[in-house]
Amino acid sequence: MIPADPALRIDLGVIERNTAVLVEMCRAAGIGVTGVTKVTCGDRRVAEAMVAGGVERLGDARLANLARLADLGVPRWLIRAPLPDQAGATVEHAEGSVNSEPATIRALAAAGRASGRTHQVLLMADLGDRREGFVTAEQLVAAAELTEELDGVELAGVGTNMTCFAFVQPSTAAYQRLVELAHTIEQRLGRALGTVSAGNSAAINLLRTDGVPSGITDFRLGESLLFGKERASYAFLPGTRRDAFTLEAGIVEVLRKPSMPAGEIGVDSYGNRPQFTDKGERLRAIVAVGRQDIDVDTMRPVDHACTIEGASSDHLIVDVTNSARDYRVGDRFGLELGYYATLRACTSPYVQRSYLQA
Ligand SMILES: *Cc1c(COP(=O)(O)O)cnc(C)c1O
Repeated sequence: MIPADPALRIDLGVIERNTAVLVEMCRAAGIGVTGVTKVTCGDRRVAEAMVAGGVERLGDARLANLARLADLGVPRWLIRAPLPDQAGATVEHAEGSVNSEPATIRALAAAGRASGRTHQVLLMADLGDRREGFVTAEQLVAAAELTEELDGVELAGVGTNMTCFAFVQPSTAAYQRLVELAHTIEQRLGRALGTVSAGNSAAINLLRTDGVPSGITDFRLGESLLFGKERASYAFLPGTRRDAFTLEAGIVEVLRKPSMPAGEIGVDSYGNRPQFTDKGERLRAIVAVGRQDIDVDTMRPVDHACTIEGASSDHLIVDVTNSARDYRVGDRFGLELGYYATLRACTSPYVQRSYLQA
């Protein structure tokens, strides 16, 4: 058997406590939390920790991930709009989904009727970020009326997503508009809507400065629960921890080398010409992990005296000169992972997961 390496350690206690902090922060403003699991490919243990921390729903962008999260006692939401021809699987593996295409809503209704289920529909409004959602109130209201008419689906409410394509920041005015759109639909349908779903983790800053208007009922949160980080100014939140995901990989070489390359420098795989500064001879470790498993820009060494110099698909180059530790070939090197590094590590078939229980 080929030994497991690299190893990803997931601290479920950190995730549960971070979640509890964010759930309390949202609860104080009358907002419930949907725990978003897509970074971990819908890891069931991570989802359980989020549920233990108090989330009311689970959300993921992929059905294959939601299929792992059945029977955890909370509804599952598909937070990327389904494809029309996946309506059957969507109704089977998710209690609700976000939507912005009438054809897909019709397909979900047909699948709901065929399986005897009523699928919940959250209609998305694009409030400026220009990713998913209807742009005009007329389109949104028409989709609401369509959903209300169809058997097999039920209109749960409206939602919006910001800071994901154009990185437009959430604002009181934008969220006020979402609340007004919900009211318009409520008047047209003559009934109240259960859900007005606003932020992802980029909305936490607005929440902390009392900028979220009343009428918002739900935040869909991933990054802030897992890393204790909001996404408006990328600040770490008080009472949370950022070390839920750490990766250890073996060192395959430790050698002193000149920091300046020798020879003519060409372009890298992205077409950029790398530049180097001469720091003299440095002690360099090569760690057996690479861009296939991690993202160098969203992680840092657990040993803060070390610096990441770069990576290729399967080699990570680390400067260990300033460390108090005497790194040797075969030693394990620890890395604290952020959002995209965790996404890659959870997606890579080479990375073995283990869990630290609460
Ligand atoms: C990914 C995603 C989220 C969660 O975003 P975080 O920044 O991780 O909190 C929320 N809503 C939608 C629609 C998403 O795609």
